[in-house]
Amino acid sequence: MSSIFASVELAPRDPILGLNEQFKADTRPTKVNLGVGVYYDDAGRIPLLKAVRQAEARLFEQAEPRNYLPIDGIPGYNNGARALLLGAGSPLIAEHRSLTVQTLGGTGALKVGADFLRQILPDAKVAISNPSWANHQALFSAAGFPVVSYDYYDAATHGLDFNGMLASLRALPAGTVVVLHACCHNPTGVDPTLEQWQEIARVLQAGQLVPFLDIAYQGFGAGIDEDAAVVRLFADLGMTMFISSSFSKSFSLYGERVGALTLVTGGDEESTRVLSQLKRVIRTNYSNPPTHGGALVSTVLNTPELYAQWAEELAGMRDRIRTMRHQLVEKIQAQGVDQDFSFVKAQRGMFSYSGLTKAQVDRLREDFGIYAVGSGRICVAALNSGNIDYVAEAIARVIK
Ligand code: PLP
Repeated sequence: MSSIFASVELAPRDPILGLNEQFKADTRPTKVNLGVGVYYDDAGRIPLLKAVRQAEARLFEQAEPRNYLPIDGIPGYNNGARALLLGAGSPLIAEHRSLTVQTLGGTGALKVGADFLRQILPDAKVAISNPSWANHQALFSAAGFPVVSYDYYDAATHGLDFNGMLASLRALPAGTVVVLHACCHNPTGVDPTLEQWQEIARVLQAGQLVPFLDIAYQGFGAGIDEDAAVVRLFADLGMTMFISSSFSKSFSLYGERVGALTLVTGGDEESTRVLSQLKRVIRTNYSNPPTHGGALVSTVLNTPELYAQWAEELAGMRDRIRTMRHQLVEKIQAQGVDQDFSFVKAQRGMFSYSGLTKAQVDRLREDFGIYAVGSGRICVAALNSGNIDYVAEAIARVIK
């Protein structure tokens, strides 16, 4: 009997996962993986935060049974996640003009949002930045949307192509969903300034475009509240919007799949209708979210001393990344390199579009065992006091 899978084609390998496999197989003791998308501490380990450990100890003590969660998740988690985005005192919370559902990471938030959007805007296009996190294109396409891109990065200045961005946003038809990285743009590390965001918001409003803010690195840029400034700016302008947020990085809980989808609506009654539809999307996909990660985050967010501990640890991660950015630039310069890398200091979040070419990235890998994405994206959070001299020296060698 012939197999029903006989004509199934092999899907292309995820380029970043492929890179990780190559890295694992590399036997050089000095190898460094800058292709990753996670935060490592100065010892090169994924941290288990103290705040999380303490929350876990409390949950263990309580030994709660593992019943199903509500379809939209743990109420304390959702309230905590939303307060981080909008600010605890936001009228959008008091007036029930916003709602949040617990999701399977930021990816789950994007997918639940995309599936719901498909129902209410079936003819819309989705616009993502050029470049963007690779899964944006894949995920919105898989949800059935045509995906286009808007100008974002200027390779010549290593900065934002602000005029290009505005021009491409202005050219989008009304009703287009625009995915925006609210802080710490992945992969470039280049964010608009607050003044530029104001202009972007005006263009979105004038063009009747639908903002979908993706915030996966809140707290890694300038601070927890500072990094939510764009969300709050859009909210203050009375814009309705989608916001996908993730605690994967900020809590170092990658495998727990802790994210949230927050919607800002036109009002109380609208929120009730919208929530009922979001629940339907969730119910028909995975029924309800898992308990453990949500309970950990909810415990931290709703216990003042654990929150303070978490905020301090997040600040520690943010400061370490910033230190690595400064040291990398200085150490490359100290190798007598003419090329200016100072833009790396201005970028924010875990990533840097380093400006290294594909050929230079290949040489880093082949000659030095230093792995980076072909686009030149490096994870600054994978640098540490033990490998930064080696990496700076290797970069200097491949660009000379
Ligand atoms: N959005 C962006 C821009 C990201 O970089 C990531 C993770 O790398 C996500 C969303 C998804 O995060 P999560 O791992 O919580 O699904």
